[in-house]
Amino acid sequence: MLDIDLHCHSNVSDGVLTPAQLINRAAQRGVVVLALTDHDDVAGLDEARSAALEKNITFINGVEISVSWRGRTIHILGLNIDPEYQPLFDGLLAIRTGRIQRAQNIAAELEKAGIAGSLEGAYAYVGERGLIGRTHFARFLVEKGYAKDMKSVFKKYLVKGKPGYTSHEWAALSEAIAWIIGSGGRAVIAHPARYNLGKNVLNDLLDEFSALGGSAIEVISASHTPQQMEIFAAHARNRGLLASCGSDFHGPGESFYDLGRLPELPTGCVPVWHDWNAFQNN
Ligand code: AMP
Ligand code: MN
Ligand code: MN
Ligand code: MN
Repeated sequence: MLDIDLHCHSNVSDGVLTPAQLINRAAQRGVVVLALTDHDDVAGLDEARSAALEKNITFINGVEISVSWRGRTIHILGLNIDPEYQPLFDGLLAIRTGRIQRAQNIAAELEKAGIAGSLEGAYAYVGERGLIGRTHFARFLVEKGYAKDMKSVFKKYLVKGKPGYTSHEWAALSEAIAWIIGSGGRAVIAHPARYNLGKNVLNDLLDEFSALGGSAIEVISASHTPQQMEIFAAHARNRGLLASCGSDFHGPGESFYDLGRLPELPTGCVPVWHDWNAFQNN
């Protein structure tokens, strides 16, 4: 079991816990290194860092950036970023602004399907400083009884071909990677198995990602089956990409993996943290 978790969410994006609550939970569960990677926002990092200091957790600044690539949505993690780097900060602000319009579009689509009041209903789940996303609509739909839980709601709503879906243009892959690298961070493809890319398209993505300076893929993720972990470990080894691991925790009872206690990286993988200074003091 690994006590390093480099992918999780607070209520600054679509997690349930505040950044400080998240750190407390991580500490209780024996996590020693944690990266907070909220979607398209860095507003939780200061609070999380202070809480982590108290709990003796090594804290890594992170973010999960929403990207459009060949008409698909891909998530790129930035680890060890400088949240004050202006192009990154401005880029994330633009994505969050886009989310506000998109939420209106989602609500309009749900309205067409006879579901009223979803915009207000979704915003009721958004934290004080939080951005809006599909998860907030999903919680509203569960609350109203349209689905029994978070897993099933994304089968019936909010995805392509179902009520509440809208297409949306996120950042370009090149932009997201440039913001991350420019800020001193490392770019990581989040949960690569989730995109269901065919062999050729996956190879194109990995080629392009590497050419743009991306350096790692998430091998261990709650979105991956053990078999997929092995497949992406092989991709990492074959391409000289670093390997990352994260629970993608969103909240108690909502996520497949809780914080920490992830499977070890498969043998032969070079961890994304292999040369991080933070680990020298641990
Ligand atoms: P958004 O960035 O607003 O499109 O929302 C994406 C988020 O929705 C993801 O980060 C997950 O938290 C959640 N999500 C998407 N698909 C699923 C799913 N099948 N099951 C559970 N949560 C999902
Ligand atoms: Mn999420
Ligand atoms: Mn993601
Ligand atoms: Mn995530």
